[in-house]
Amino acid sequence: MTVGGRKTYKLYPVGAAAARFTVQVGVASILDIPCATCPHLLECGAGGFYDPSTCALLELWLRREAARLRQTQQAQQAQQAG
Ligand code: SF4
Repeated sequence: MTVGGRKTYKLYPVGAAAARFTVQVGVASILDIPCATCPHLLECGAGGFYDPSTCALLELWLRREAARLRQTQQAQQAQQAG
């Protein structure tokens, strides 16, 4: 759904599945996302002056996270290979 011009996701358990699963969501991986401390957070949204799709800070963070994930995966593959 979109709230105030922002894509927003609401997660909730549904029906019988709710009774069978426990979902643990960690925030550690996103604590350093630039949006968490951005002074423009409330003004930011698709099509606005501050737009996540064109934000250099967010792109830099995503690139660093992707590089970190690649390194982790490579280390795990190397460990499995012996
Ligand atoms: S996408 Fe960029 S401008 Fe928007 S809240 Fe995040 S850091 Fe701020």
